[in-house]
Amino acid sequence: MTDSIEKIVSLCKRRGFIFPGSEIYGGLANSWDYGPLGVELKNNIKKLWWSRFVHQRQDIVGLDAALIMNPKVWEASGHLSAGFSDQLVECKNCHERFRADQIENDKACPNCDKKDVFTEPKQFNLMFKTFIGPAEEKANIAYLRPETAQGMFVDFKNVLDTSRTTVPFGIAQIGKAFRNEITPGNFIFRTREFEQMEIEYFIAPPKDDNDWQSVFDMWREEMRSWMEAIGLDLAHIHELEVPEGERAHYSKRTIDFEYDFPFGHKELYGLAYRTDFDLKNHFSQPPYRDGQTGDSYWPHVIEPTWGVDRSALAVLCETYAEDGERKILKLKPSLAPYKAAIFPLLANKPDLVAKAREIYKSLVNGSSSIVPIAWDDRGNIGKRYYSQDEIGTPFCITVDFQTLEDNTVTVRNRDTTKQIRLPGEKLASHLTENL
Ligand code: ATP
Repeated sequence: MTDSIEKIVSLCKRRGFIFPGSEIYGGLANSWDYGPLGVELKNNIKKLWWSRFVHQRQDIVGLDAALIMNPKVWEASGHLSAGFSDQLVECKNCHERFRADQIENDKACPNCDKKDVFTEPKQFNLMFKTFIGPAEEKANIAYLRPETAQGMFVDFKNVLDTSRTTVPFGIAQIGKAFRNEITPGNFIFRTREFEQMEIEYFIAPPKDDNDWQSVFDMWREEMRSWMEAIGLDLAHIHELEVPEGERAHYSKRTIDFEYDFPFGHKELYGLAYRTDFDLKNHFSQPPYRDGQTGDSYWPHVIEPTWGVDRSALAVLCETYAEDGERKILKLKPSLAPYKAAIFPLLANKPDLVAKAREIYKSLVNGSSSIVPIAWDDRGNIGKRYYSQDEIGTPFCITVDFQTLEDNTVTVRNRDTTKQIRLPGEKLASHLTENL
């Protein structure tokens, strides 16, 4: 684990995980581009999430809703209400926003109690505005979605009518969200364009608190086990029970899962009980009918939500390690951008290169298809190992002169740095078992 965000930013830039956005034009503040390795890491996080929560569960189905929705969605959800388009100041410490007319500048922040922390007042709605069609008129205003959640609410009946879902069930979505944050920063922690993985989990109107608490607890456990699955040490996670008054207006209970980022304990994920607030606002009639009792009702919602970018950042901070000169990302193999690397011992020996290519192809195209695999034929082997360690590649395979004689290769393990010699025909199964 690292306590230096600079080391992570530098590694990400140097090795092609994350670049400053629009860099050749002087950049664009707080925008970031995921490079060749970053996109693999991010996709691996999303794949793991989808597989775990959609494919491996019978009670959750997927959705991919439009980014630009009818502005009425944002009226119903409360995002366009007066509070959102007032003059706002933001506390630079806790990022809570307040109506400028309700705050005295020289007083401490009512949320976190810090002094001298307010930004200048601004006319502010967090949503990015745009226009549909050529005329830039009020009637054509539309917004980029500030959260993925509303897609699941708005499509609730469509999903219900087309899938064999009965309450309790969930709708899951991964996608971009946009917020015109007043104080973005801390690398990819807070940006104006980011990606979310969200589930809206619908339950029958609870008869008592136990009814929803048990589902809430199930999701709390699921979120903890997800954090372990991506390699986060739960000792670095802090659950914050958000007190009444600080919760979003629709929430009856919220837990923030905070991670020990190098810049402090900060929200990684959230879990909220949104009651029937959203469906009631979108549907004037109860949208769900219980097949057994015949009762119609507005289901209640438990919402676990994950930031993709914050997941990637936490994983990078957690797995970064140094061993003398050697820098290592101890990524779970499922998240590693490359599953293995293959090296011909010497680049100027055509026999070695041809043999290494043959092994490369057999792994990539073989029945267990191990992808992607890095190819490196530059510099000495020690440097190549270090180079792969730094990007988290779990295994390095070297093809040397002995390979030409007896078809064995060396396989070196990133975490132990131990090497073993394996017959070529056992290589694929060895990798599959250990990945
Ligand atoms: P914060 O308090 O940090 O502003 P939030 O409580 O507003 O976050 P939610 O609306 O609950 O965040 O969004 C769900 C998740 O989306 C967060 O837990 C976080 O992982 C991610 N997220 C929210 N805002 C951003 C952002 N500006 N940049 C990157 N990720 C974000």
